[in-house]
Amino acid sequence: MLTTSKKKRAVIIGAGPMGFETALRALDRGFEVTILEAGRVGENIRQWQHVRFFSPFGMNISPCVRQALQGNLPSDDAILTGGEFVETVLQPLSRLPELDGKIHPGQRVVSVARSGLGKVGLPNHPLRIERPFRVLTEDIEGRERIFEADLVFDASGVYSQPNWAGTAGMPALGERDLGSRIVRHLRDFDGSEFQRNAGKKILLIGHGHSAAHAAIALNNIITRAPSTQVIWAVRTDRTKPILEVPDDPLSERGKVAQAANEIAQSPPKNMRILRRTTLEALVEAIDSLKVKLKIWRNFEEVTVEEIFALTGYRPNLEMLRELTAEFSGVSEGVAGLYRALTNITDCLAKIEINPNDLQTGETGFFSVGIKSYGRNSGFLLKSGVEQLNAIFSGL
Ligand SMILES: Cc1cc2nc3c(=O)[nH]c(=O)nc-3n(C[C@H](O)[C@H](O)[C@H](O)COP(=O)(O)OP(=O)(O)OC[C@H]3O[C@@H](n4cnc5c(N)ncnc54)[C@H](O)[C@@H]3O)c2cc1C
Repeated sequence: MLTTSKKKRAVIIGAGPMGFETALRALDRGFEVTILEAGRVGENIRQWQHVRFFSPFGMNISPCVRQALQGNLPSDDAILTGGEFVETVLQPLSRLPELDGKIHPGQRVVSVARSGLGKVGLPNHPLRIERPFRVLTEDIEGRERIFEADLVFDASGVYSQPNWAGTAGMPALGERDLGSRIVRHLRDFDGSEFQRNAGKKILLIGHGHSAAHAAIALNNIITRAPSTQVIWAVRTDRTKPILEVPDDPLSERGKVAQAANEIAQSPPKNMRILRRTTLEALVEAIDSLKVKLKIWRNFEEVTVEEIFALTGYRPNLEMLRELTAEFSGVSEGVAGLYRALTNITDCLAKIEINPNDLQTGETGFFSVGIKSYGRNSGFLLKSGVEQLNAIFSGL
């Protein structure tokens, strides 16, 4: 779609919370807005719709969104599920008259480049900035389309790209072939998926917040279906594998971490907790998977029917390959932001972000929302809003 409008054209990748936050600010500036969304509005949050946010509602939306939705919102201290957030915030935002016709669901962005210029075309040259961006998308049927833009905001999140489950971030032997047999996102394990899991031999890998949720769900399954057998493998040697923040101000986060740690410290009969454990190899067997685990210095083979690997997510940088944007070799997030976040260990820590930290090295292209943090898991929507304020103040 090539347009000739003189208004600045802003393409926003992703109709998640940060995509909408960006869109409202861009509309306010009089930009022509297009939101390209791979799935449905709030697709990534819908994947964990049954799980509660750990931050209270008041922390999750900005004055800008409040104003756009004109009341009719949950109370600030409400702890919503992902599904409730989509229903009460994202869907109403998608129905705003000012966004009518501007959201394109089912358009997955495949590649972004400057018109006629790849990565090495006139880098740092003023002429590069004059060239618009071209954004290539693909719909569910594989049909391709080009959108042109003066500004691109990548708010595509990280949830679509899970980390490997093997040691040191590498795929375990066999994982590339058998990857589709591994569940890598939080599902409603003890709710709508109870029947699928009850009575099975299950391996859970991970010790982050999502793994904590899964451990609690698996414990519930064992209570309801005592023939279920679970191995919970964690890399850490901590007795309490999930990090707890003393007197956690985010009480929902504290509650989940504490409940999962209690399970780890005193698991039910059918749950083994393996610390200092990594996944080494997978082999397909009849209706099951043979798994080789390294437990400290020893190896053990087990046969399981389901593997839940909740080992985090990373940004898709492939689609940005032809841009001159710089991403940290460590976090894979915006390079300047990575430096600003070094040594920050909790998402609530006050960070001083210099607007320059948010520059990507490709004028007019911004990585926003959780993707800008890359593999750093300390992102909060509240921080994303502050980032956008800084970016827009410089536009
Ligand atoms: C279980 C769980 C609980 C969480 N709780 C909290 C919490 O309490 N507080 C908090 O602040 N954060 C929480 N988070 C983190 C939370 O997910 C993010 O804060 C929030 O979703 C980030 O918003 P975003 O818009 O940056 O990305 P996302 O919500 O991930 O949205 C990205 C959007 O981009 C789309 N997309 C992806 N790739 C493409 C592409 N190539 N082309 C087009 N569209 C694309 C996706 O479909 C999606 O709709 C939680 C995460 C999980 C998993």
